[in-house]
Amino acid sequence: MSIQTTAIVARSPGPNGPKWALEEVEAVSSLGAGEVLVEMVATGVCHTDLVLSGVPEGMMGIHYPKVMGHEGAGYIRAISPITKSVSIGDPVLLSFQSCGACTQCRRQHPAHCAHFNQLNCTGKEGRFLSQATTAAAGQSAKEGIWGSFFGQSSYAKFSVVHESCLVNVKDVLRNPSDLATFAPMGCSFQTGVGAVRNVAAAGEDDVLLVMGLGGVGMASVMAGKVNNCKTIIALDKQEARLQVARSLGATHTINTVPAEADSVFDFEQAVRAICPDGPSIVIDTTGVPKLVEAGLETACARGKLIMIGATPFGYTLDIKGLEHIFSGKSVIGCVEGDCVPKEAITEMIKWYYEGRFPIDKLTTYIPLKEYQKALAGLAAGEIIKAVLLWEEESPADNSLSKSSETKCAEHSGDLSASRI
Ligand SMILES: [Zn+2]
Ligand SMILES: [Zn+2]
Repeated sequence: MSIQTTAIVARSPGPNGPKWALEEVEAVSSLGAGEVLVEMVATGVCHTDLVLSGVPEGMMGIHYPKVMGHEGAGYIRAISPITKSVSIGDPVLLSFQSCGACTQCRRQHPAHCAHFNQLNCTGKEGRFLSQATTAAAGQSAKEGIWGSFFGQSSYAKFSVVHESCLVNVKDVLRNPSDLATFAPMGCSFQTGVGAVRNVAAAGEDDVLLVMGLGGVGMASVMAGKVNNCKTIIALDKQEARLQVARSLGATHTINTVPAEADSVFDFEQAVRAICPDGPSIVIDTTGVPKLVEAGLETACARGKLIMIGATPFGYTLDIKGLEHIFSGKSVIGCVEGDCVPKEAITEMIKWYYEGRFPIDKLTTYIPLKEYQKALAGLAAGEIIKAVLLWEEESPADNSLSKSSETKCAEHSGDLSASRI
């Protein structure tokens, strides 16, 4: 069975990078064990979508065409007989998928699941069908499109999602319109928050340096304030972002583009002018090798460098053995802030309603049809966090959600009979 739906389809990248196009496709809607059907209200655009849309066909197990998207927010429209955590009509936020059975999953570290890449980056073949046809074995057939990206492929209005991705927010959501605002919590925001609270275990004696002020970096700044870090330094190349970081709790800012056109930025001097001993926690969200290396070098004794931003393929961080031993420093890789999504998202929503997590300052809402604006704005650094809206109306208008909830509730086990 399948459902007609709109989706952003990524095709094999060209010399200018990712190739995305808005298409009418069919979502294969037969629900396997542990799967549900979600109608998206909003989807955050994360840099990982851009990075993994630019990977050549076949590398890292990635194939095209595919539907990406891994910061979904929407409503449950159908469930399988064994679904436990949600009911039809529940509002949900979508996060990454994990197996639930490997050592790290059992130890409550699902972001380091042994099967993370396969479940999240590769996805599954044929979860959507294109209107285009392919000739196979002398017969034409509808072109298969890969889906289940991060277990969700939330760049489709309707998508079959794995239950392990779901965070049911029906008991904590105060206004339906807030669901779109919370969409990026499933990846960007929990990554930045978790880096500070779970990975670095930051406290009031810490000097926190956050490099790169996208959605992840800004969330780290806010988490640093929640954890009462005595100094929070935000570093970026755009003054506008540094201003936002100051409004979120950064005590100091560093612009890597010198005011004088003919001068050269001196990382060490800029950081030590604020904290002579160096920061105790350095969070890198840029993946720029020079910044990663300078961050490690400048960190204080026993300081932690937390690597989040994707470094270039094949890049090796050079660590001098003896110096590293005496420094007592740590270099820590970080995926999704080492979060358990249900716990992290529930906490972030609580902070939001307390006024301690003002994510509205970061977010630009963009109607789906103008998704190219999100890509261009992110690439140019003009947008900190883009959230695509699946309806023309503002997210405050929840009338559609209510009407389709009613219809689908009657057909929970029979998707073909529902409107969708
Ligand atoms: Zn696992
Ligand atoms: Zn992401």
